[in-house]
Amino acid sequence: MSLAKRNALVTGSTSGIGLAVARALAKEGVNVMLNGLGDAVQIEKTRAGLAEEFGVKVLYSPANMLKPGEIAAMVREAEDALGSVDILVNNAGIQHVAPVDEFPIEQWDRVIAINLNSAFHTMRAALPGMKKRKWGRIVSTASAHSLTASPFKSAYVAAKHGLTGLSKAVALEVATMGITVNCISPAYVWTPLVEAQIPDTMTARNMTREQVINDVMLERQPTKQFVTVDQVAAAALFLCSDAASQITGSNLVIDGGWTAQ
Ligand code: NAD
Repeated sequence: MSLAKRNALVTGSTSGIGLAVARALAKEGVNVMLNGLGDAVQIEKTRAGLAEEFGVKVLYSPANMLKPGEIAAMVREAEDALGSVDILVNNAGIQHVAPVDEFPIEQWDRVIAINLNSAFHTMRAALPGMKKRKWGRIVSTASAHSLTASPFKSAYVAAKHGLTGLSKAVALEVATMGITVNCISPAYVWTPLVEAQIPDTMTARNMTREQVINDVMLERQPTKQFVTVDQVAAAALFLCSDAASQITGSNLVIDGGWTAQ
């Protein structure tokens, strides 16, 4: 069965991977609620553009993934406006790079809240509807850092390891209910999030921009190429398909060989 007429909520979809996932879903005929931060005019342009290009309903929620109340309200709003949330993509994420003994406490809390806790809050709110309809797809963007670590990224590594653990536990809870719960774990994907961490990494490691790209980011990526947002979106689409109905509790790695080492 095609995904057309299904309804999806994609957190952190105003840019990067989330936007590519939202776009891939819309292309399949899925109605989408976008979410994320950014310039209101640009977001409205994106929203209207997707709706126009693919002939699906595209909504936008500015819910802040730091705020449990806003997250629950966003899920309710999506269910009210679209009729259901059949596909939930937990993608919102931030990074902060610092040695652990200098890690600002509020940055630790933000990284854990956005990258991990928000997925708990969305799942908690969206699962009752999925259970009632006996169908659901939950896909969370974890990271190669859900399986391995890098120095100076303690909060991110902890959050992403936690996200895969959360997904496995929930996958088992709903395994007989037509609902699958999986993670996708890319290594470096060229997005604004990656661009934004270059200056901090330059400072933390006393390196030039080129050194950070070649010697830090792509150093452990054996293909020596960034993953693309469209490759991640294609994997998300696959996990939402009927062909993937027996894939649950898994962590699909797209890392150019990083974690094979
Ligand atoms: P991005 O910065 O382009 O996108 C992040 C999205 O999250 C944006 O839409 C942003 O507005 C949203 N967001 C941030 N804080 C938010 C908040 N408080 N409330 C609501 N939305 C918020 O980054 P990206 O690279 O596309 O990252 C998307 C996901 O992929 C993240 O979870 C990230 O950890 C993961 N990831 C990225 C890479 C990579 O190399 N880019 C690799 C592995 C995993």
